[in-house]
Amino acid sequence: MGLFDKFRDGLKKTQDKLVHEIKRIVTFSPRMTEATLEELEIALIGADFGTEMTEQIVEAVRRSYETQGGNGLDVFGVARAELQKSLGSGESGLKQNLNGGVTVVSVVGVNGTGKTTTCAKLAHYTASQGKKVMLGACDTFRAAAIEQLKLWGGRLNVPVIASAYGADPASVAHDAVSAALAREVDYLFIDTAGRLHTKSNLMQELQKLHRVIGKQLPGAPHEVLLVLDATTGMNALTQAREFHKAVNLTGLVITKLDGTSKGGMVAAIGRELNVPVKFVGLGEQADDLQPFDPASFAAALFPESETTAA
Ligand code: GDP
Repeated sequence: MGLFDKFRDGLKKTQDKLVHEIKRIVTFSPRMTEATLEELEIALIGADFGTEMTEQIVEAVRRSYETQGGNGLDVFGVARAELQKSLGSGESGLKQNLNGGVTVVSVVGVNGTGKTTTCAKLAHYTASQGKKVMLGACDTFRAAAIEQLKLWGGRLNVPVIASAYGADPASVAHDAVSAALAREVDYLFIDTAGRLHTKSNLMQELQKLHRVIGKQLPGAPHEVLLVLDATTGMNALTQAREFHKAVNLTGLVITKLDGTSKGGMVAAIGRELNVPVKFVGLGEQADDLQPFDPASFAAALFPESETTAA
């Protein structure tokens, strides 16, 4: 299956809703009156494109309608072009340790967003590119997270460095970096905690973890990826801001796009935070992680169609 097909299938819920609504709006009122444009705006906001992206698309439709005089205006084509323009060429794929050697990727986010699964998917993605990879189970506050990562490691044939439930996450991270250096792996993915049972602050805990591995391997972590659950829509933005303030994110991974009709949030969140969306999760299996591709994303959401205004 090609990249575009994967995006189209994964974004089916968002696409179905958008296509249905925009078609209904344009069929009912082919002339782009203020009321039609307002309906278009509501449909886009409903798909969580956020206010800025929505305004940009609506204004572009208005301009095209005015200049074309309603002569077969392709609303989807205009929306697709605007979305793509706003997303730019993208910045997918993982950074590499510029000094050579191990690249450490810290994966952060609140519990339930898909952090552990994403670590496993990233391990699978890089291993299938011929890289030597390792996983570090640093969410020591949840026994289930450690077990889950070990299970994935076994399935994917990737070593997992773990300690007991309740161990100091920074010390597990230290062990994981030592093992990664000793075994000369290319990538070490670190699963971190999303909530603590202790009174200490999660952000301080993450900062400490990053400090420890930075001392051990200067420049590490080379990537700090925040995992966000697309089904929470724009609510994820508040979460994202908090993490960004504390740990300087280098990229976003948006999961569960297959389970929501709010796929527009991918465009809105990357834009609001000014942090690139690097990967998207389109299912629960190891290979359901795709490097983010703005062109495929825009084309999957606004397919070439018969949606033409009069
Ligand atoms: P964590 O608590 O953040 O580590 O979250 P988990 O990795 O345990 O994932 C929580 C649930 O979300 C699990 O049932 C995963 O299978 C599911 N999940 C993760 N990513 C995706 C995705 O891209 N699509 C779907 N449909 N489910 C996902």
